[in-house]
Amino acid sequence: MLKRLDGRLAQVVSEAGFTYCNCLYIDDDVKTLIETGASDNSWSEIDADSIDRILYTHHHIDHIRGNDRFKKAVTSIHPLDALALDNFPNFLHYNSIDQWNELMPDNVYANVTEMNLAPDSFEKMIKVNGTFEDGEIIDLGATRLQVVHTPGHSAGHCVFWFPDQEFLFSGDICLTKAGPWYSELYADPGQMIDSINKVIELKPKSVLSSHITKLVIDPMPCLKEYRDRILKRDDNIYNFLKQQKKPETIHDMAGRRLIYKIYPTMWVIFWEKLMLIKHLERLKQVGLVEEVEKDSFIAC
Ligand SMILES: [Zn+2]
Ligand SMILES: [Zn+2]
Repeated sequence: MLKRLDGRLAQVVSEAGFTYCNCLYIDDDVKTLIETGASDNSWSEIDADSIDRILYTHHHIDHIRGNDRFKKAVTSIHPLDALALDNFPNFLHYNSIDQWNELMPDNVYANVTEMNLAPDSFEKMIKVNGTFEDGEIIDLGATRLQVVHTPGHSAGHCVFWFPDQEFLFSGDICLTKAGPWYSELYADPGQMIDSINKVIELKPKSVLSSHITKLVIDPMPCLKEYRDRILKRDDNIYNFLKQQKKPETIHDMAGRRLIYKIYPTMWVIFWEKLMLIKHLERLKQVGLVEEVEKDSFIAC
């Protein structure tokens, strides 16, 4: 479904949720999409062959699936995320999926099939023609947008700033109840805080992310609350370890609502374990947590 925003901008609202995303359509001289991850039945109002350019906020499957629908488009992404899309083993590695069997010993199964993804379909689906850099201005005709590199969710995650409209497309600085997410290999919660601060400094009047359908007007309180959840997760983990008074592993800690509040799929447990590892590293670095033996942690 196409939802008109300001002037030449429209949101492509995905009919499906998990492993799909909402996209932005810019109907200008250079017809452009930001993301292609809306579900198949969401594109009826857009002529696929009319799309000239595709810009990706980052490499995750929920954003890049659908790429092969737009045969004539030139596709760009930040260089730090381009390698993840080079081949299927890289994709699994960047997404930490090659750690599944180690982290989920009781749930070893063909997890990739849950994303409807196989090596041959992946390599057929995605092509990246070029890259863009932080600060680059992209001119599409009447519409100008600026690339803002915002690592944390992935190393090459970028948001797109529309200075004339004071509008931001924030990708997976997603502003949903479940976020922020920083489970992949090159994700980093500290960088995510810095990136959200970078977004706040832009003072956007409105924000749309890849996983919300409603434009957020006057987004400052929402952005700050979203950023501060990362610090709250640090506190939750530290306080939990302090109460336990004995060493805990990430397997003991996962599923206890220290990061997520609900666990609708095994993916959420997997992601929570990956994020626990990153938080425990942060807490170790400031001397609040000690790793007493491998993968076993206690509050100092
Ligand atoms: Zn993502
Ligand atoms: Zn996403």
